[in-house]
Amino acid sequence: MGKNGIKGMDIKKDPMGMAITDYHKTGNADRLRVLSPMFEEDEIPLQTLFRKYEEMPIIERKALDLAKGKILDVGAGAGCHSLVLQERGIYVTAIDISPLSVETMKKRGVKKVSEQDFFTLDGRYDTILMLMNGIGIVGTLERLQEFFCHLDKILAPGGQVLCDSSDISYVFEDDNGMIDIPPEMEYYGEHSFRMKYKNVIGESFEWLYIDADTLKEKAANNGYAVEVVAEGEHYDYLARITKKLETK
Ligand code: SAH
Repeated sequence: MGKNGIKGMDIKKDPMGMAITDYHKTGNADRLRVLSPMFEEDEIPLQTLFRKYEEMPIIERKALDLAKGKILDVGAGAGCHSLVLQERGIYVTAIDISPLSVETMKKRGVKKVSEQDFFTLDGRYDTILMLMNGIGIVGTLERLQEFFCHLDKILAPGGQVLCDSSDISYVFEDDNGMIDIPPEMEYYGEHSFRMKYKNVIGESFEWLYIDADTLKEKAANNGYAVEVVAEGEHYDYLARITKKLETK
C-alpha cells in the first residue's frame, strides 16, 4: 500500500523498474521497449537513466544549477538528478510510482526516497524538478488543471517548478515541411505508451509533450507564469513555472 492507502504499482507490472534493477545489479540489461499505437517501437537505453552530470543534456544541467531550497525530484527513476544534488550537499526528496526503481534508488544511496504518486503527495517544496520530459506525467492537457491545483498545495511561497518538455509538432511534418496533424487528435502532444522489458508489459499510460506556448497559456489560466530558461537542440526546452503574484 502506498502512503495514502492507495495500492501502488504491482512489481510484476513494473518493466522500467525491472530494467533499472537489472542494470544497477549487473551493469547490463535487455532492451527497455516503449510501445505506442502512434509511433514505431522505441527503446530507452538504460545507461541514459544512470547518466552523470557531465552526460546530461544542457537543459537538465541548467535545472540542477537553478535548484534551491527544499527540493523534490518527481519521477526520479534511477535517481540520477537526486544523486548529483546530494553530492553537492543539497537536500532532496525523490519520489516515483515504480516500486522497483525506488528500491534501486535506496541501494544507490538516495537518502530520502519514497514510492509515491506526485498527485497525492503532501508537503511543501521550494523547487520541484520534473526532468526528462518530466511534465509528461500529467498525461493530458485537461489534467493540467489538476496539476496546477496540486501545485497550489505543495509549492512553497516563492517556489518554482523546473520541468522540461518538447514541441513534437515536427513529428507530423509532411514532405513539404507542413505540419499535418491527424484530425482525430485533440492535441498533438498527447500520447499513450506501454513499456516492455523481457516478458513484462506495464499498464498503458498517458504522456504529455507540450509546446511552450500552450504551457504558458494553460499556466496563465491557473494563475501561474512560465519562463523558458533554456532551449535544447531538438525542440526541447526547460520551463520555470512560478505562481503569479496577486495584483490588488
Ligand atoms: N527523471 C528520471 C526518470 C524519467 S522516466 C530521469 O530523468 O532519468 C519517468 C519516471 O516517472 C518513471 O520512473 C515513472 O515511474 C515516473 N512516474 C510516472 N508517473 C508518476 C507519478 N504520477 N508520480 C511520480 N512518478 C511518476
